Amino acid sequence: GNPTCECNTCYAGKDCSLLLSNCAADANSGDPLFLEPYWRRNAAGSAVLVAGWHRMSYEANGDNYISLELERHLRLLHYAVGNAITRDHFIVFGAGSTQLVNAAVHALSPDDVNFNESSTALVVATAPFYRLYKQQTKFFDSRENLWDGDTSNLDNLNASSGANFIEFVTSPNNPDGKLKQSVIGGSSVIYDHAYYWPHYTAIANPADEDIMLFTVSKISGHAGSRFGWALVKDRKVYKKMVQYLLLNTFGVSRDTQLRILKLLKVILAEVGREGDIFKFSYETLNKRWAKLSNVISSSSRFSLQKLSPLYCTYFHKIRDPSPAYAWVKCERLEETDCEAVLREAGIISRAGEAFEAESRYTRLSLIKTKDDFDQLLSKIESLVSNERVSS
Ligand code: PMP
Repeated sequence: GNPTCECNTCYAGKDCSLLLSNCAADANSGDPLFLEPYWRRNAAGSAVLVAGWHRMSYEANGDNYISLELERHLRLLHYAVGNAITRDHFIVFGAGSTQLVNAAVHALSPDDVNFNESSTALVVATAPFYRLYKQQTKFFDSRENLWDGDTSNLDNLNASSGANFIEFVTSPNNPDGKLKQSVIGGSSVIYDHAYYWPHYTAIANPADEDIMLFTVSKISGHAGSRFGWALVKDRKVYKKMVQYLLLNTFGVSRDTQLRILKLLKVILAEVGREGDIFKFSYETLNKRWAKLSNVISSSSRFSLQKLSPLYCTYFHKIRDPSPAYAWVKCERLEETDCEAVLREAGIISRAGEAFEAESRYTRLSLIKTKDDFDQLLSKIESLVSNERVSS
């Protein structure tokens, strides 16, 4: 057939190498396809072949339908990277960390047996924050907990006021890549460490919080496998999360667990060597950030979040930033809708409102494919150079 018909919508020509100039650069989603080249290099070693009779059962060898071998490898991974202490934690698997968000909220909410309305847990986060926490809490609409909004709207940032807070802390944060801490003294905190890996941030020390969420989506890039895990210190909270998982999906797909195990084995075998996934991912994202920052530095119309070089215990050196997202601010007074400003210039971003922030901000994803990033960069370059011509 005619290969031209097979091109992605933004490309044309015999070998699809001709980029169409009227095509928008889509930097909206956090789809981590920048890791695809790593897996192309490791194609054979990471492949899984499953015979029809294999892993048919509901059962797995660990409690709660988890593979003990996978659990062991997750602990090894945290140990090798030094980003979390797992010694005192139970592990719960979820269909992505998406499933674990509400499982954790449920587990920290008052028990049904003891429930009275004054003990309803108030679920909060500090803007700008990842919108899923709010969306899920509102959608599942449980009587045990209630979405209570941005912490900056609270009068009393102390749980001793009698309120029962469940606070989400995303560190590094989505959208701005900053390392974050809990702001409500005495609250129950769910640390979402989706991006606490050397790809995206310096690792200062191993995290050791009571509840920590992780996802393979942002480590290996296999977002479609839907695999995440929680590290949980408290036995009762752990048991409640497990109960949630059992009632909800009866655990995570055994096929997915098998595939993730294979991927982790490849990652672990390469740690500290030439094929280190963390080295590859850091270098890729650091270059992207450097290129984008360089272009934006000559703009007075747009600015980016400020991120500093930090010492990283994984690389044993001070390293420059490599965030997953650029958090863009439109600086001109009249340009209050930054997402619209970029859309006008053929750039699709995620508006500040999606993170409960001002519409003067918008988020650009830096973790999609190389083509996606190159297109984004070229659109930003022409936007910024037009600014110089017109001013
Ligand atoms: N937490 C944060 C902060 C995220 O950015 C994402 C994905 N964008 C998730 C959780 C969910 O990831 P997944 O369900 O793929 O594990």
